[in-house]
Amino acid sequence: MLYSDLCSFYGRIEELSGRLEMTDQLVELYRITPLELIETVVRLTKGEIRPGYEGLEMGVAEKLVLKALYMVTMLPVEEIEEERVRKGDIGSAAEILVGKKRQTSLFHEPLTVTRVFTSLTRIASVEGRSSQDLKLKLIAELLHDSTPMEAKYLTRTVCQKMRLGIADMTQIDALSYHNTPGIDELGDFLVHNGLPLDDGLVQAVRKHLATAMSTLAETRTLIKEKGMEKDVVRSMTERVQKIRSVVQENRETIVRAYNIHPDLGYIASLLASGGIGNMGHINVTPGIPLRAMLGERLPSISGIMEKMGGKVALEYKYDGLRVQAHITDMGKNVILFSRQLENITDQFPDVAGYLGSMFKGQDCILEGECVPVESGTGRMLPFQVISQRRGRKYDLEDKIEEVPVILVLFDCLYLNGSEYIGKPYLERRDAIRQAIPDLSERMDTGSGLALSRMEIMTDADEGENFFLVALDDGCEGVMAKSVGEGSIYQAGNRGWLWIKYKKDYHSELMDTMDLVIIGAYHGSGRRGGTFGAFLMAAYDSDDDVFRTICKLGSGFNDRHLEELPALLTELQVPGGQNPKVDTRMEPDVYIIPSIVLEVKAAEITFSPVHTCAWGYLKDNAGLALRFPRFTGRIRDDKGPYDATTVREVIGLYGQQIKSL
Ligand code: ATP
Repeated sequence: MLYSDLCSFYGRIEELSGRLEMTDQLVELYRITPLELIETVVRLTKGEIRPGYEGLEMGVAEKLVLKALYMVTMLPVEEIEEERVRKGDIGSAAEILVGKKRQTSLFHEPLTVTRVFTSLTRIASVEGRSSQDLKLKLIAELLHDSTPMEAKYLTRTVCQKMRLGIADMTQIDALSYHNTPGIDELGDFLVHNGLPLDDGLVQAVRKHLATAMSTLAETRTLIKEKGMEKDVVRSMTERVQKIRSVVQENRETIVRAYNIHPDLGYIASLLASGGIGNMGHINVTPGIPLRAMLGERLPSISGIMEKMGGKVALEYKYDGLRVQAHITDMGKNVILFSRQLENITDQFPDVAGYLGSMFKGQDCILEGECVPVESGTGRMLPFQVISQRRGRKYDLEDKIEEVPVILVLFDCLYLNGSEYIGKPYLERRDAIRQAIPDLSERMDTGSGLALSRMEIMTDADEGENFFLVALDDGCEGVMAKSVGEGSIYQAGNRGWLWIKYKKDYHSELMDTMDLVIIGAYHGSGRRGGTFGAFLMAAYDSDDDVFRTICKLGSGFNDRHLEELPALLTELQVPGGQNPKVDTRMEPDVYIIPSIVLEVKAAEITFSPVHTCAWGYLKDNAGLALRFPRFTGRIRDDKGPYDATTVREVIGLYGQQIKSL
């Protein structure tokens, strides 16, 4: 398979905004991909060689790529650097520069997908003193043989800036269609019976699957306008609905596998070798992070009690960093993963050490919140303090002493060869104690580990008291957890088995929101030369686009205003809007959705300009935040797809109405 075939798809996908159109392109791409290359194609499309949680970095700075471009094109260095600045993106610059070279170079061997992947793997794995020279050589060899379009995606991949904007769930949708037999036959059947498939087979079938054929009205139209026989239309509808339910089932099966083994390349390879049935072979495995279970929210303890059937476990809700700890070899090996599934073991060697020495067993996966504490007393400190530890390489030793942390454990997902995610909450809690017998609910800086404080309650007033004590102890609220038989760990899901209740709920709008920066406005006066406000969006996970909800200008201090422009320079969209963003407001600069900020507001109102939930609750109006304020917390533990969703905003609007 030629790399240029793959790049043609990337070119088309980049122009698209809608999830459905992207899915169509991906389904088509998988159709033309030989089975043995599916895994490679899925990985390249994600812009990676190995799953993110393995932490394999390309280790290539843009400077090195510019050097390779110089070696290959022989254009003046200044011209190369100017093009990079003008385009604002290494890929687009490489496309133009390699285009200029093409006219002079005669020999080149077409790039295959396999050759590109093999070279990229070597680029990522070379280490040692002369590694930069070898990386340079490998990049130059690829660029020498690449077309301008291939150069665009190659350079983006080596710089780890692929940014096609394809959410993992869209790849999963495409894999579900690809692994549903009978779609081609269904297409033939529809054409044979007079349904036009102008857009191509997959698109048309998918569209019919998604909408048209399911409604009675459409069936009637077909009969009336196209003069079709009633029986034919009925049989078409039945066949379409049958296939649709198989696609849906397949999707759920793949999502379940992905939630416990979030490596799309691996999933695609299993699908290629044995179809959907192979998903059953995916099990929880120490060393491979599971996607986190998330909780819903409610504004009162009595509401929570009612929702959970009158009996709940209330736990302190600690304000720190969520950590998933994977312990193997009887404690000799410990890996810590963040909420974003990054390997953060190097930043918390102290925590890894505590777990390794106190664990009693063969292997296990535990989850907890890593909280900064005052040394000696164990008193909890504000969450922000922990960010001093993140991303450190050099003075980490000093920071460990300066900012001690305690890992407060609240779940056990695997123990001594057995999966625990399907077991009820209380059994999982017992398993934490079994894994680490010397654990107490006291915040003890000596051991560095604690068990989350928990009480089982049947009375809402007692619950309120527990909540107030939690606040007194420095927590941000409580987490209510179902204790029923069905209280399993739902990896990757936000559900009603966990419900959070926070102190914010007592004032203003219930809960803060985590919103994505999609644009920025230049500042004036004291903020001259930097940004004065940001255009913020919620994530519409149904359509896979970001929809605006407020313009955010307050809550920023001088440090933020200094830090944010540096973070945003790399993310500015050259030449205007991003297709993944739905906005009716025009910022001075568009920003690729990436940075998530925590925002508080007075209330949610209807808005004629913001596009969040546009037309959903009211015609020609969306939902917006009134008096939005940055809380000071940059959510670097969240990616754009983990931001507050449009559905959640609609839910919060509903709760606001109820509380009035
Ligand atoms: P979410 O994680 O629901 O997307 P968020 O990241 O904004 O939301 P919160 O709304 O503050 O966080 O609450 C959920 C988080 O609370 C969990 O992801 C976890 O990190 C943390 N947490 C603290 N204590 C507990 C506990 N006892 N049980 C479960 N989670 C807890």
